[in-house]
Amino acid sequence: MNPPLAIGIDLGGTNIKAAVVDRDGNILHRHEQPTAAARGPGPVLDDLADIVRRLSSSPPQGVSPGDSKHLPLPPGEGRGEGTIDRVIGIGLATPGPLDLREGRIVLTANLPGWKDVPIRNALREKTGLPVTLENDANAAAFGEYRAGAGRGDDHLVMLTLGTGVGAGVILNGRILHGHFDNAAELGHMIVVVDGLPCPCGQRGCLEQYASANAIVRRVADLNRDRYGAVPRSAEDVAKAAADGDSICERVWDEACLYLAIACVNIQHVYNPSKIVLGGGLSNAGAQLLDRVNAHFRKHTWSLHADAPEIVLAQLGPDAGVIGAAMLAMPLIA
Ligand SMILES: [Zn+2]
Repeated sequence: MNPPLAIGIDLGGTNIKAAVVDRDGNILHRHEQPTAAARGPGPVLDDLADIVRRLSSSPPQGVSPGDSKHLPLPPGEGRGEGTIDRVIGIGLATPGPLDLREGRIVLTANLPGWKDVPIRNALREKTGLPVTLENDANAAAFGEYRAGAGRGDDHLVMLTLGTGVGAGVILNGRILHGHFDNAAELGHMIVVVDGLPCPCGQRGCLEQYASANAIVRRVADLNRDRYGAVPRSAEDVAKAAADGDSICERVWDEACLYLAIACVNIQHVYNPSKIVLGGGLSNAGAQLLDRVNAHFRKHTWSLHADAPEIVLAQLGPDAGVIGAAMLAMPLIA
């Protein structure tokens, strides 16, 4: 019998990403489309069920239409020995906070108007497949753990550095959820007392200093009295810093310092063997990693050599779908 497959879905505020994934974390077929978030949960759920149908009807492994974003197959085509018989479940990654016991989205800033949505049962009813619901940052961490930079590291923390700072913690090979299902909100770890306000209601959160948005905003603030082009993205800031722009260099270094401080705190709380840095900021590669590591070495304790290895993520924007699918697949055979 052919080994099982699962469908991973990463439901974001802007796009829905979905893929058929094998048990080694390889993507066999993929699909991506905009999220019709403004239409509310009902139509989006219909879209998700439709995507599951399309992906389940994908041709058998080996005749995938490459990296096609859309698979407009006539009903029935590719069935038989193909994907549909092998898909054993759906892993659904969504923004939180979630109620994992009930399988509900409690509320999410990225999907306005979504409150108390019983998404797990709704998708199960529409597709007839078991659905595993997970927070998107946790799913990305699980993806890197099972198929990316953290393969083989049973104690791992991932920070996703994008518009905000998402995080997932793997302990003993399992995602840490905590009593309220909101463990590992490391982007809201306070790194500056009475620091910058955060939409979460706290002040001085890590994501106000080390996210892509924070870096761009900080450069814009410092640039107010200067003439010349203001960087529009964290990538621009990284490039300008590498070219010797003093303000960009300073802001980049500060962001890396705060990340390093977060890594020291993570080291002491979770004692992982690896901290994986992902998200858009990690595209800066060595420019990010070397600087974070340098600050980390300066600030970590000298009492014991238990420092985690800080590395770059390997799965890029696919980490969420791969992780979600892996969560829907048992570790057997
Ligand atoms: Zn916050």
